[in-house]
Amino acid sequence: MNKMQTLFNWAQQKNCAIVAFNISNMEVMKGITAALNNLQCPAILQVSAGARRYTGSDYLRALFNTAQANTQTTLVLHLDHGDSFELCKDCIDHGFDSVMIDGSHLPFAENVALTKKVVDYAHAHDVWVEGELGEICGIEDAVNVAHSKYTDPAKAREFVQKTGVDSLAVSIGTAHGAYKYAVGSTPALRYDILKQIHAAIPDTPLVLHGASSVIPEYVTTINQFGGQIKDAVGIHERELARAIDDGVRKINIDSDLRLAITATIRQYFHDQPAVFDPRSYLKEAMKTVTAVAERKLKYYTLRNDQSLGQDHH
Ligand SMILES: [Zn+2]
Repeated sequence: MNKMQTLFNWAQQKNCAIVAFNISNMEVMKGITAALNNLQCPAILQVSAGARRYTGSDYLRALFNTAQANTQTTLVLHLDHGDSFELCKDCIDHGFDSVMIDGSHLPFAENVALTKKVVDYAHAHDVWVEGELGEICGIEDAVNVAHSKYTDPAKAREFVQKTGVDSLAVSIGTAHGAYKYAVGSTPALRYDILKQIHAAIPDTPLVLHGASSVIPEYVTTINQFGGQIKDAVGIHERELARAIDDGVRKINIDSDLRLAITATIRQYFHDQPAVFDPRSYLKEAMKTVTAVAERKLKYYTLRNDQSLGQDHH
């Protein structure tokens, strides 16, 4: 059985979600690996087109293999926001367990045709496919969408039937990046739409993109030490975790790792102005990655948010 299938079956049984962390360098990879070993928790490691450009797919593959060899739990390698059949095919040919084909910006019929083409190739190679219907706003690497278009539950059923896609990214009010919502507004997820989608396609695991909570303490630290991350607002994990009860089985995290690393390094430069060995501050950044990863795994996969209490802020 495909590794992603195994993982989603497990998550379904436990009524939890698997965290998908975006990776593009060794420090993030090692930081996450430490968290997975500490908590004995599985995860998805995903790479975007931007990560492939920055790191190189050969380096990423080697990093993933090394992480896997050093982890006692299941790791799944996934392509995030594949934008063409060719990119998905390349990842499938190079041993990815799972790919996302994002045709959400296309008209419905074209999204169906593109997704089905990827599904046909992927399934012939025992690879999982995530599709997307509806548009999730915000900016993430090559993805730049001004306004959300919520996923239509009836269309979602038609999309899954016509494409045979394995899991579906839905748009219910999350957003990519750190600038998710207007300051002063109350960000809200459309649980009513999510419930309708889950009822329409109960056997399809749902995916939340743009699900970083924009952890306030890191935004504060960045701004305190010379950064200018203004107006960054997210949704707390406690709120996002409610989506798990309505069929969300994969929760994507990228921005929170970026914010945490930046906060750590900015503060380090301020506190230790004489240090110029990158290993000194990257080691601290790695520890912060582990802390953020553990926090997400506790909320979404282990679901022991009781024991977290009123944490962090
Ligand atoms: Zn995304």
